[in-house]
Amino acid sequence: KAACASLTPDYMVPVYACQRRTPLQHPNRLFTDALEILSENAEFFESEGRSLAFYKASSVMKALPIRLTSTVDLCGLPCIGEHSQRVIKEILEDGVSSEVEGVLQSERYQAMKVLTSIFGVGVKTADRWYREGIRNFGDILSSGQKLTKEQEAGVKYFKDLSSPVTEEEANSITDTVRKAVASIDTRAKVTITGGFRRGKQRGHDVDLLITHPEEGKEAGLLAQIITILDSQGLLLYYKTKENTYTAPREPPVKPHSTLDRFERCFSVFKLSLPPFRGSQEPVSLSTPLDKTCIATDWKAVRVDLVVSPCSQYAYALLGWTGSQHFERELRRFAGSEKQMALNSHALYDRKQNEFLSASTEEEIFAHLGLPFIPPHERNA
Ligand code: ATP
Ligand code: MN
Ligand code: MN
Repeated sequence: KAACASLTPDYMVPVYACQRRTPLQHPNRLFTDALEILSENAEFFESEGRSLAFYKASSVMKALPIRLTSTVDLCGLPCIGEHSQRVIKEILEDGVSSEVEGVLQSERYQAMKVLTSIFGVGVKTADRWYREGIRNFGDILSSGQKLTKEQEAGVKYFKDLSSPVTEEEANSITDTVRKAVASIDTRAKVTITGGFRRGKQRGHDVDLLITHPEEGKEAGLLAQIITILDSQGLLLYYKTKENTYTAPREPPVKPHSTLDRFERCFSVFKLSLPPFRGSQEPVSLSTPLDKTCIATDWKAVRVDLVVSPCSQYAYALLGWTGSQHFERELRRFAGSEKQMALNSHALYDRKQNEFLSASTEEEIFAHLGLPFIPPHERNA
């Protein structure tokens, strides 16, 4: 083991991302950005296995507290396959990876990146459009594609939805939703989840989890919230899904499914902006013209509302806080290491044949025999 990195003895890296502390900021961005581009590109080709392999390698590097300076440092680190090692080695030597550069230049990657960034457009749809010759946003309009209602909203508000949501904007929307909720029932609770709960300063949307301390009283809340927000003219688009989860008598069939069955609403919110933005951000030549003008006093923002009964709240909170990879790893750990099945509703112990209840995230980690990882360190 003498040849092994100075890194490994001091910083043992466990195999599962849910066993590691992964902060938002870390010293190996150069490598993780590159690996995530390869992961994303594999996803665009629907190669899930390859995509996950690159992502796992990236995720391990995100948990390293010091900057990688030699391939020797890779020795002893889990999940970094041969291909990822080659990419890392090339970056160490040349500063960039020729493979990543090639992907970034490729027509397919560039087109898929834009198309999948549209609300309502997944890899399957983007791939079909690509094969029909669609390469950019303008091509969608000129090709006269039939769009779903969701995609229509995605196209209509594309510019706003492509610009990141700031923490300030997320807080403002949370406030608005809280006021609407409080006017229905002062005991109902709204919690910000997703990336913002993990400490991100920017996000692609705002994820809000709604619950009520009295079991059953959460039912019907969402419809009332939507009525209020809609009457205030704040919903540019929305689509609701009913709760399809019934208290289980049997163990979850698909423990690895990431989709949950809570009542929810996917929406595009109309966020009012402070009227005199120009006075806060001095107008310069680089300020986009439309933002210097007080006429554009709102911005479209993607908002997800999810409702959970209080008995499932801790599981819902854990499930909606992310990151997506952290969640995937929690479920894989539960299934492979503990013979348990975890989803956003419950944890089932296959050995004891029972559901394990929890009222806090801490209790869920304890059920799994994992040290508690706070939200800010779940950026795997
Ligand atoms: P971003 O800043 O890009 O929004 P994020 O981590 O908040 O980052 P989201 O896509 O908003 O990403 O997802 C937040 C969490 O909610 C994730 O952990 C994901 O597992 C969960 N989630 C998202 N969509 C669904 C869904 N349809 N069903 C169940 N869980 C979901
Ligand atoms: Mn989010
Ligand atoms: Mn979301």
